[in-house]
Amino acid sequence: MDIPSFRIHAHKLVDWMSDYLEGIGQSRVQPDVAPGDLRRALPPKAPDMGEPFDNIFKDFNDLIIPGMTNWQHPGWFAYFPANNSPPSILGEMLAATMAAQCMSWETSPAATELEEVVMNWLRQMLNLPDTFHGVIQDTASTSTLVALLSARERVTNYAFGREGTLGTGGQPLMVYSTANSHASILKGVKIAGYGMKNLRRIPVDSARAMRPECLREAIQRDQGMGYRPACVIGTIGTTSSGAIDPIYEIADICQENKLWLHVDAAWAGSAAICPEYRPLFKGIEKADSFLFNPHKWMLTNFDCTAYFVRDTEVLQKTLDISADYLKTRFDEEVTNFRNWQIQLGRRFRALKLWFVIRSYGVEGLQSHIRRHVTLVGEFAEWIDDHPDFEKMAPVSLALVCFRCRPHDKDLNEDELNKFNTQLLDLINRSGEIYMTHTILEGRYTLRFSSGQLFTKDTHVHQAWKIIKECAETLQSNST
Ligand SMILES: *Cc1c(COP(=O)(O)O)cnc(C)c1O
Repeated sequence: MDIPSFRIHAHKLVDWMSDYLEGIGQSRVQPDVAPGDLRRALPPKAPDMGEPFDNIFKDFNDLIIPGMTNWQHPGWFAYFPANNSPPSILGEMLAATMAAQCMSWETSPAATELEEVVMNWLRQMLNLPDTFHGVIQDTASTSTLVALLSARERVTNYAFGREGTLGTGGQPLMVYSTANSHASILKGVKIAGYGMKNLRRIPVDSARAMRPECLREAIQRDQGMGYRPACVIGTIGTTSSGAIDPIYEIADICQENKLWLHVDAAWAGSAAICPEYRPLFKGIEKADSFLFNPHKWMLTNFDCTAYFVRDTEVLQKTLDISADYLKTRFDEEVTNFRNWQIQLGRRFRALKLWFVIRSYGVEGLQSHIRRHVTLVGEFAEWIDDHPDFEKMAPVSLALVCFRCRPHDKDLNEDELNKFNTQLLDLINRSGEIYMTHTILEGRYTLRFSSGQLFTKDTHVHQAWKIIKECAETLQSNST
């Protein structure tokens, strides 16, 4: 494709993009497809000769689009949101056009310095202490792995030490979290070499938050057995029910015992830009590392995780590689973010974040967060007021967990699980909205999480109407 044709196609695509976003509420959230549909529609071998872009684009429209889940649909109430926004898309377009590989300052000075500036902005927006240094990672999962590797480095001097063994003197290294923490922690514990059996699941209270006294006991017990406690991972806003671990108390225990405290606020972290929600984050100033995903709830395209860390020396000790061919003239004076992450190469992610923060301003981003907290708060009141529905967990920001429990039917827990499984299936088959589930103490639970740019109060009203209608249909079918 030569540049004159690129220009023509690019203009057409911008029109397509605008139409897509304007009309997104009219399509289904979840596509109506079966496994293998697309595979069968495409040739099994790559074409020998290049094809005109018009043909490719026609297949995109005819074959790909019907099989896409529309995450930006205003009826998206599943999982957590994965935001984008017009300025963020524009940032991605430009970054893709320059296609810079920003591993070192030298390989894109402006990309590195913009990232430093934007991460400082974010740090201030969340009211984090200025002892934190920020870097953009691809995902929360990677950031948690980086934290686990740094914690390991701090207690063992593994990467540069003489011992070359994980546990100091063969001591097993221990990690502490709760059963509600994200699966990425399990993955990180596996990859970083702690081993799954050295991950302790600390008991939780009735709000599913870590019980600090149990953490203290577990650490003492492990120390008594000759183990080496290394890292605690607290969560602000668990994926399952939005539970919030008491970071302030946990941080004190970590300081007393010299443990690395990593805080995973992948979804909820964006809410810290609003002063009224900061009490939920009490104690993060005492953490060693903290992450949140602007790609979840801060209008920025996937992928973009903000990782803040206090001890950049141990971080770089863990991840630094000083191959001769990577050395540059200014290494003493500049930040080389390749040493702050697992991969060598890195995309120019700061650009879209900069576009977003400048386009909306702090106030615009705050009102995005507040709007969804308000919408879910109203939705939760309808749950409370309806005799056939009940909340299964306290409302957490813009997430509420609930189930249907028909008041005139005496269903046991198994029957309720079955009823709610069928209910969610019926709701999602409508195509108008999309929700997902979790299991809380064996109970099948529906999650309603709001956070998309285009979701308005009318969509939340419509969602509630669909949920009630589906519940009525199911009840009348079963009598
Ligand atoms: C979504 C989520 C993650 C994983 O996020 P990725 O960026 O996809 O790795 C981790 N922790 C929590 C609490 C989450 O909600």
